Amino acid sequence: MAKLKIVTVGDDILRKKSRPVTEITPRILQLLDDMKDTLHAANGCGLAAVQVGVLRRIVLVETEPGNLIEMINPEIIAREGEQQDIEGCLSVPGKYGVTTRPMTVTVKAMDRNGDWFVVTGSELAARAFCHELDHLDGVLYIDHAKMLTDDQLEELYEEE
Ligand code: ZN
Repeated sequence: MAKLKIVTVGDDILRKKSRPVTEITPRILQLLDDMKDTLHAANGCGLAAVQVGVLRRIVLVETEPGNLIEMINPEIIAREGEQQDIEGCLSVPGKYGVTTRPMTVTVKAMDRNGDWFVVTGSELAARAFCHELDHLDGVLYIDHAKMLTDDQLEELYEEE
């Protein structure tokens, strides 16, 4: 188990563009394993490699516990509909905001064996796909979210 340190907002690396993975080396496989441990330890539903300080186009999404999706060089190939909901980010601790995202998103990506696959997600999964893929281009949800006020945050925590 190797939990990595999550980079938080203010660190310039979060604004950089990640580079494609050209070869799935043992180091990349180790990174995938470490990112999984880091995501689980943080109780998150998605993590991009840049959030652990590695500028590679790799993201993990796990919006249903136990159904971890590892995506290497992911690309959105279809978007449909629209939704608005509350979003947060492990790199922006303690904050939440409302974003507008597609209702359904289809992503093409490579798995750890180097095989391409296509996955479609709606609602939370669609938001997570968009959010994590944005990280690969240095985009954070706070760039376009309507952030919740302290009062709204308090209400949100009371509901939980
Ligand atoms: Zn994030």
